[in-house]
Amino acid sequence: MTNAPTGQEIVRGFPEGGALLEALAGFPPAYLVGGAVRDALRGAVPVDVDIAVEGEIGSLAWALSDHFGAELLEHERFGTARLAIGGVRVDLARTRSECYAAPGGLPEVAPASIEDDLARRDFTVNAVALPLGDEAGEAIDPFDGRADLVSKTIRVLHPRSFLDDPTRLLRAIRYEVRLDSSMEPQTERLARAAIDGGALGTVSGARLGAELLLLLGEVNFVAALERMVDLGFHERWPGGIDPALCGSAALAALDTGADRVLSALAALLLGLGSGAPSVLEQLELDAGAAHRVRAALRDAPPLAAELRGDAKPSEIFVSLDGVSPEGMALALALGAAPEPLLSYLASLQYATLEISGDDLRAAGIAPSPAIGAALRATLLAKLDGLLDGREAELAAAIELARGGAA
Ligand code: ATP
Repeated sequence: MTNAPTGQEIVRGFPEGGALLEALAGFPPAYLVGGAVRDALRGAVPVDVDIAVEGEIGSLAWALSDHFGAELLEHERFGTARLAIGGVRVDLARTRSECYAAPGGLPEVAPASIEDDLARRDFTVNAVALPLGDEAGEAIDPFDGRADLVSKTIRVLHPRSFLDDPTRLLRAIRYEVRLDSSMEPQTERLARAAIDGGALGTVSGARLGAELLLLLGEVNFVAALERMVDLGFHERWPGGIDPALCGSAALAALDTGADRVLSALAALLLGLGSGAPSVLEQLELDAGAAHRVRAALRDAPPLAAELRGDAKPSEIFVSLDGVSPEGMALALALGAAPEPLLSYLASLQYATLEISGDDLRAAGIAPSPAIGAALRATLLAKLDGLLDGREAELAAAIELARGGAA
């Protein structure tokens, strides 16, 4: 690859990159690895910095934290540390070898050379290291990752790769789509064999969940889902995978203010029917995200069935009040009439009365749940244009509260 940038050139392109290179001096040899190398070599802008260090990283991590005033997160088991420098995520890791005691489990790790560290990685395009200690440092590329980058090939480093870590199946698809690349034929055969053999069942739901969210976060994730179907993932997905539905939910998320990844995930899980909530639980998303997906799965199908295009404003309000943006996005994808939904989002959801419970109490209504119910019924009447102005609202609410209390 002619005129390929060196590690130092790539790091200098980041805010505070020059200072970071200076701060690395005097510590064990450091290499730029992973996505930053891959992206810089293919002419894209790298987004974060992965540094592999051939030696103990603790004192380097603390020195960087001190120098840049950056908070440090350390992970002892893997000898890794993370900090933000100039707004960029910097990951430090001691170069290590990995040995998988059981397929799909977490590996045993041991300190090792940079070459061994590259040999534990997922694909050749992610297994190139650029030395950072030397201005003109030559790339370390034992698997010809740079050639695969040029030929747009996704290739595993050894035949057991997908069995050792089945999350690589999703990663391979993600890189195919993102890098406009294809799995090399033997890699694809290994992927199909791993999927057919049930490899995905050996990996924790949490790790699969994390990779699934990354996949659904890709711009072209619909193509990734189509590829999942093509490779046989849906055999393990009782209700099937519907990429178009997931794409529609993500698109509708733009209208409803929903999170597009969670909307797509809800659409994906819908294919599991009654098994969806338990699979969702196994994916171990953070509590907020899981709650939103669960609510969407619960609310969207009935909403899509009941929301008519000619519904009255009060009916629209009752159907949509309390439904999450993800639920609405999924309902739209499932064919809910868009007009009522959009009118709810544009105006109905903000509708309020000119009166409050205080006005009813001032009118002599005793505090009770009837006040809340009367105010809501008054609001619904107002939405349908049956009440005009404060006095009309108050009269209706008093009558409703007295009737409701009776
Ligand atoms: P991106 O985040 O853009 O998808 P990245 O390469 O930065 O790409 P990370 O998930 O941050 O991806 O991982 C950093 C590097 O760690 C990868 O480039 C790869 O070399 C290695 N890696 C990550 N996950 C695995 C895995 N499951 N198996 C083997 N190597 C992995």
